[in-house]
Amino acid sequence: MKLSEIYKKEGRVLSFEIFPPKHEEELNNIDATLEILCDLNPDYISVTFGAGGSSNNNKTIAIARKIKEQYHVEPVVHLTCLTYDKAEIDGFCRELEANGIENILALRGDRNPNIAPKGVFEHASELIEYIRPRTDFCIAGACYPEAHPESKDRVSDLRDLKKKVDAGAEVLLSQLFFDNQYFYDFVEGARIAGIDVPITPGIMPCLSATSIKRMVTTCGASLPPSFEKIIKRYEDNKEALFDAGMYYAISQIIDLLTSGCDGIHLYTMNNPVVAGRICDGIKNII
Ligand code: FAD
Repeated sequence: MKLSEIYKKEGRVLSFEIFPPKHEEELNNIDATLEILCDLNPDYISVTFGAGGSSNNNKTIAIARKIKEQYHVEPVVHLTCLTYDKAEIDGFCRELEANGIENILALRGDRNPNIAPKGVFEHASELIEYIRPRTDFCIAGACYPEAHPESKDRVSDLRDLKKKVDAGAEVLLSQLFFDNQYFYDFVEGARIAGIDVPITPGIMPCLSATSIKRMVTTCGASLPPSFEKIIKRYEDNKEALFDAGMYYAISQIIDLLTSGCDGIHLYTMNNPVVAGRICDGIKNII
C-alpha cells in the first residue's frame, strides 16, 4: 500500500525506522528483530540506505522485501542520490519495482569523505524530479525541524523543502528532535509556505549518553535543559538512563499526539526492546 493511502486512514500512523545490520551475525538476527517489531503493528517500516555515508546498501532492498512478504507490513526504502548517476538510480528503481516496493524515501544522502559525489544529483528534490515521471512509487522526503545543518537559515530551509514537495514528495519524515516546540514552529512555517503534505515527527529514544551526543553532533538537534539534566544525572547509570530516556520519549510522543500530529516515526535503532517499551507506553493513545 502507498504511504499516501496509509496517511488517509483513521487514527494515527505509527512507523518504525531500521537499518541493515553491518555484521553477518547481526544479519542472522534480523528475523528475530523484525518479528518483534512487526508484532507491534506498525503501519510501515522504513529501511535506511547507506546512512552515515556507508556503502552498505545491498541488504536494504532484501530486508524491505522480507518485511513485506514475510511479515506483511508495508516497507519504505530509503534511496540516496549524491553518489549515483542516472543509470544507477534507474537500476535501483528497477530492482525496487521487481521486489514489489511501492514507497521510497528520496534523500540526498549523508556525505562520505571516502566516496566522491557523482555530481549528477545535488539535492533530494532533483532525485524526486527524476524519479517521479519515470516510476509509480509514492515518494517521501526528509525534513528538519531545526533546519538542515547546511541550510543558511530557516527561511531558505523551508524554501528548499517546498521544492521537494513541488517535485512530488507526498509525505515528509522529520529528523529527530528533543524539543517539541521546534517541531510545532517548523510545521507552522511549512504550512504558511504552502507545504500541505503530512509531516511526521521522528522520535529517537535516548539509549546512552554517547549515542545521543553523537546524534546531536551529527544532526544538530538541540538538547532542552530537562533532557540535559537527565543525561547529566544518569550518564554513568545505564539502566536509569534507559528508563529516563524511555519516559522522556513517551512524554514527547504524548505531547505530539495530543497536539494533533497524525503520526509518529520511531527511530528504533534495531532495538525491539526500545520499540516495545515505547509502544506499550502509548498503546491506548496512538
Ligand atoms: P536535501 O533535501 O538535498 O537538503 C540538503 C541541503 O541542501 C539542505 O540544506 C537544503 O536546504 C539544501 N537544498 C535542498 N534542495 C536544494 C535546492 N534545490 N537548491 C539549493 N539548496 C537545496 N542519509 C543516508 O545516507 N541514508 C539514509 O537512509 C538516511 N535516512 C534518513 C531518514 C530521515 C527521516 C532523515 C531526516 C534523514 C536521513 N538521512 C539518511 C540523512 C540525510 O541524507 C542527510 O540529512 C542529508 O544531509 C540531507 O538529505 P536530504 O534528502 O534532506 O537533502
